[in-house]
Amino acid sequence: MVRGGNQRLVISWLVALVLVLLVVLATRNSARRDDDGGQVRSAVRALSAVQRPLPVQPPAQPHPQNVLQTQHVSLVNGRCGSGKWVEGLPPLYIITPTYPRAEQVPELTRTAQTLMNVPNVVWIVSEDSTVASTSVVQYLNESGLNTVYLHVQMPSRYKKVGNKPRGVANRMAGLNWVRENAKDGVLYFADDDNTYDIRIFEQIRWTRKVSMFPVGLVTKLGVSTPIVKEGKVVGFYDGWIAKRTFPVDMAGFAVNVQYLLERPLASMPYKVGYEEDGFIKSLGIKASEIEPLAFNCTKIWVWHTQTKKNEPAKPINHTIATLGTNLKIISEQLWKGPAIKTKS
Ligand code: UDP
Ligand code: MN
Repeated sequence: MVRGGNQRLVISWLVALVLVLLVVLATRNSARRDDDGGQVRSAVRALSAVQRPLPVQPPAQPHPQNVLQTQHVSLVNGRCGSGKWVEGLPPLYIITPTYPRAEQVPELTRTAQTLMNVPNVVWIVSEDSTVASTSVVQYLNESGLNTVYLHVQMPSRYKKVGNKPRGVANRMAGLNWVRENAKDGVLYFADDDNTYDIRIFEQIRWTRKVSMFPVGLVTKLGVSTPIVKEGKVVGFYDGWIAKRTFPVDMAGFAVNVQYLLERPLASMPYKVGYEEDGFIKSLGIKASEIEPLAFNCTKIWVWHTQTKKNEPAKPINHTIATLGTNLKIISEQLWKGPAIKTKS
């Protein structure tokens, strides 16, 4: 009787031990990344107790406040070479249309880092949005570049269509700013997602009327470029000529500011595919007057790169391991989807 009782006790203990082991294993598995589904069950891997937890360092500089400064021109030399101004060098008014999405700050970072290497730049960042994105304004303020920040939303009638005239309303807002504030220099439309060799900026600076140059990675041909013979533009090489007089890319031309100011009606149409052509035609330039740059269009110094789209970030799941850590500040910098849902 006693032996039978002992056996039952041992069996009960064994069963309890197995159950405990099963619970431990299950917890560990649930913390693993589920690679098949691409879903992250737990994104936090706490350091083991052997390692001493690091004290959370206060940021070296106070965390920048979310100060919104619209129509802001900063002339602060915040970084090496950034915002540098050399007397006597014609200014470059660079209009960058941008819009809120996960890739927005990364794209603007790449463009900003390029422009930091170019003196006498006024960078007009014009956002397609009803509200100013704090992350963008903050980034511009920190960049040390001479920046103008504007925001205007694409008219709702165009938002509804599948193939939208992207960046037109915001480029036009930038253009109006140039008309009101610039006297000389050169205008250039630089989309936020392209890749620019700084040599193109040194060449467009001396544009007298309208200059043009090749843009790589445009259509299946891999390039869109004026055709140049004996220093003159004699035609255009582009994968989509369509009914365009000037079949060029938005990043493939620059305009002298005085020449622009003499043409107050010049503007960009809300016509998909015809934005560049419409704008250049509205300037009234003749093909024979176009100035080919990049060594008679033999160099590709601008690339129509495109960035993979990213989903909004999943919210950080705060636990005991994340409270009081940097993750709260990081979380504020993540793209979580549009702030205001517009009816479409
Ligand atoms: N853009 C915009 N609003 C939009 C979509 C795009 O202001 O709804 C901007 C974008 O940031 C870029 C330019 O317009 O600077 C061209 O857009 P995108 O790069 O998507 O067009 P693609 O180069 O593929 O023609
Ligand atoms: Mn693009």
